[in-house]
Parts: sequence; structure tokens; C-alpha cells
Amino acid sequence: MLVDSHCHLDLIKNSNPDTLIAAAHAQGVSHFLNVSIALDHFPTLLSIAQRIDNVFASVGIHPNTSSDMTVDVKTLKTMANDPNVIAIGETGLDYFRSQGDLTWQHQRFRTHIQAAKEVGKPLIIHSRDAAQDTLRILREENAVAIGGVMHCFVEDWETAQQAMEMGFYISFSGIVTFKNAKALQAVAKQVPLDRMLVETDAPYLAPVPYRGKTNQPAYVKHVAQFIADLREETFEKIANVTTENFFRLFSSATT
Ligand SMILES: [Zn+2]
Ligand SMILES: [Zn+2]
Repeated sequence: MLVDSHCHLDLIKNSNPDTLIAAAHAQGVSHFLNVSIALDHFPTLLSIAQRIDNVFASVGIHPNTSSDMTVDVKTLKTMANDPNVIAIGETGLDYFRSQGDLTWQHQRFRTHIQAAKEVGKPLIIHSRDAAQDTLRILREENAVAIGGVMHCFVEDWETAQQAMEMGFYISFSGIVTFKNAKALQAVAKQVPLDRMLVETDAPYLAPVPYRGKTNQPAYVKHVAQFIADLREETFEKIANVTTENFFRLFSSATT
């Protein structure tokens, strides 16, 4: 049993969720967290989660989604108030793809943290070139009260440690399999097994041997296998612990 803790089923072109899930099942991938990046596609995510067993949804606005899309705590809480919604996000900070005055990005991030705490569902954090501000805002908003996951983690060990101290899990994507990702591989070797998740972030960031192609949830197997080899553990061990971690973190997810 293996979980893809972060994918975007509705963004994968030339495919449909049912085909993708069937392909993943054939590889032993049993559960999926289909992650929201904007409020206008949330109804689609919710209907997929309601229709297909073991597919869960989150609600939130990606940090790179236009600053025109605003949301308040009350709206997020209302949208999250469905048993198929198990997390708030993806939210966070991205200084790579957004520039200029990013006060709006900070504020929207804070709103998501407040909603997560109030609704009692963990956070999915996206952070790129913004580790220090991400950690600072998580601290200022007392995110330790709800916890969550640092998704598609690419930062250093110190950042991982600080996030884990606030109750966050560290999720590795296909990036960890890339030849030039030596520093990240060192982090993946160090993160305690009981704090680690795996994901695809499909359709992005396909792992080796599919690097450069469209990613899909079935490929999370390659991420888990790579980490198993890296840590000299069995594939089953990595699959089992990351699955247990997923259900411990997202405790409202029922099988
Ligand atoms: Zn992301
Ligand atoms: Zn994502």
C-alpha cells in the first residue's frame, strides 16, 4: 500500500481521474490527496473525491495563483466542511514565480493557517525560495496547533528540522530522484522515517525514469523506491511508514 500525498488529478492533460487511479492501483498506490490550487476548480476536486473511493481533496489557493483571488477564513472553513476534504492548501509562499510587493501572498497564507486551525484540518505548505518567511509566518500564526506537510520539499536540513519542530511532515517528490539533487538526497536520508511522506505533485516533476514527461500518481512508486535504496531500507518499509504517516497526519481521512 502506498499513498500519493499530493497530486493534481484534474490538471493532468489527455487523461481522466478514473484512468489515472486505475493505473496507480495497478502499481499498488491506493490513496490520493488531490490538491486545490484555486477556488474555482474546487467543485471539480470535491466531486472527484465524492465519486472515487480513497481520493481525498484539499481546499486552498496556491501562492502563485493571481492576487485577484482572495478568500476569508469563513469561506475556507465552509468549503472545508465536507468529510472528503482532509486538508487546507496548498498555501504558502513562492518568491520564484511571484515578485514585487507580496504582502497579498503573506496575507492569504495567514488566512489559510487561521482556517486550518479553526476547522481542525492540517496544512499543505508550498514554499519556494521563501523558507525563512514561510517558517516565520508559520511560527507567528501558531501553526504548530494544527501541523501539516511541507510538500515537494527542496530546502536544507535546518529548514526541515524547524518545520518538524512545529509538527510538520516532510514530503519528497520526484525531485529527490534527479541526478543533481545531491543536497536534497542527503536531507531525505536524514528525515526520521515517522515524519516522511511521498508524493508526485503530478502532472509536474515526474521522477526518474520519467523525468520531463507528464507525471501521474502511479509514479509515486519510483519516489518511494528511490528513497528506499537511498536509505538502504526495503520498498515495503518506506511504503508502509509513509502510508501510516499520511493517516496519522490527515486523521480525518478514512479508508
Ligand atoms: Zn506546490
Ligand atoms: Zn501541488
